[in-house]
Amino acid sequence: MHHITVLSGGVGGATFLTGLLHGVRHGLLPGVDRDAVVTVVANTADDIWLHGLKVCPDLDTVMYTLGDGIDHERGWGRRDETWNAKDELAAYGVEPTWFGLGDRDLATHLVRTQMLDAGYPLSQVTEALCRRWLAPVYGDAVRLLPMSDDRVESHIAVADADSPSGRRVVHFQEYWVRLHAAVPAEAVVVVGLEDSTPGPGVIDAITDADLVVIPPSNPVVSVGTILGVPRVREAVVATRAPVVGLSPIVGGTHVRGMAHQLLTSIGVEVSAGAVARHYGARTGDPEHGILDGWLVDTLDEGEVAGVREAGIACAAVPLLMTSPDATAAMAAAALSLVS
Ligand code: GDP
Ligand code: CA
Repeated sequence: MHHITVLSGGVGGATFLTGLLHGVRHGLLPGVDRDAVVTVVANTADDIWLHGLKVCPDLDTVMYTLGDGIDHERGWGRRDETWNAKDELAAYGVEPTWFGLGDRDLATHLVRTQMLDAGYPLSQVTEALCRRWLAPVYGDAVRLLPMSDDRVESHIAVADADSPSGRRVVHFQEYWVRLHAAVPAEAVVVVGLEDSTPGPGVIDAITDADLVVIPPSNPVVSVGTILGVPRVREAVVATRAPVVGLSPIVGGTHVRGMAHQLLTSIGVEVSAGAVARHYGARTGDPEHGILDGWLVDTLDEGEVAGVREAGIACAAVPLLMTSPDATAAMAAAALSLVS
C-alpha cells in the first residue's frame, strides 16, 4: 500500500495524521510501505477573511501540526506565540476582536494573502507554505491539498430574538470562537459549496488511492463540507480503494470541539453508530454511502452490531488519540478492518 488519502478537518484530523505518519514511518501499519505517500484533502470551509487577510484554520492546523510548529496546548496556532498585533488592532477598536490572530501566525496569513492577490490559487499558495513546514520533515511523502480553490464558507444559523426572522447567521468561526458553540446551531449553511470545484489533485488523490481514511474529524463542518464539494463524494463512492472511518464520537459525546451541536443541528444523534449510518455504507450508489469500515471506541462496543447491520464492517478499539503510538494503533486497526 503506497497511497493513503485522508479527508481532514483541523485538530482531530491533524492529530490523527501525526499518528498515521508515525505508524507509516515506523512500519507499524501492516502492508503499508514505509515511504508511502499520504495526501491530505483538507477542509477549507472554515476559512475567513479578517483585516484583509485570508485565514485558513484547518490547512494551518494540519501544516503547523505536521511541521512541528503547533501550540500543543491550544491545539491550533503557533507555539511561542505573542499577540501584539491583536492587542494593537483592539486598541484601535477594529472589529473583530474575538479571533486569535497571533503575531507569528500573521506572517502566514500575510504571505498567503499576497500570493492570492498576485493571482496564485489557494492550492499553489498552500504548496508554497508547505515547502517551509512539511518538506523538511516529510520530503514528498505528505501532500496537503485544499478541498477547493474556490471560496466556500460555513455559516451557522442561531436563534436571535432581536432579529425579525428570529434567527441570525454567523460565520462558523464566530460561532466557534466568539460564541464557543454554546448556543444551539439551528442550521448549517455552507456558502459557495454547491458551485465549488475540487482543488487540483483532489479527485485523483481519492481515485488513485490504495486506502481512503475518514479521520475522527467533525462529520458536519469538516468531512461533510469536503464531501459536499461537487464530484468528491462520487469519487469516494467510486474509488477502488477501501474507505474506512474512525468515530469522532466516543462514549456518546465528542472528545473536544463542537461535533455534538452540529450533529444535532442536522438531525443526527450524537453516537458513534449514528455517525456511521449518517456517512452510510458504500454500495456504489452515491445516494447511499461512503464507508466500507468504521471504528468505534471500546466504550461504544454496543454500537458495533447496529453499524454492521447497516452494511459497514465495524470493530471497537480504543479511539483516544493520547499519543502517536496510540493513534498509529488506531490507524492499524482501521486498516485491518478493510484489508
Ligand atoms: P477542527 O476542524 O479543529 O474542529 O478538527 P476536526 O474536524 O478535524 O476534528 C474535530 C473532532 O475531532 C472533534 O469534534 C472530536 O469529536 C474529534 N476528536 C478530537 N480528539 C479526538 C480523539 O482523541 N479521539 C476521537 N475519536 N475523536 C477526537
Ligand atoms: Ca475546522
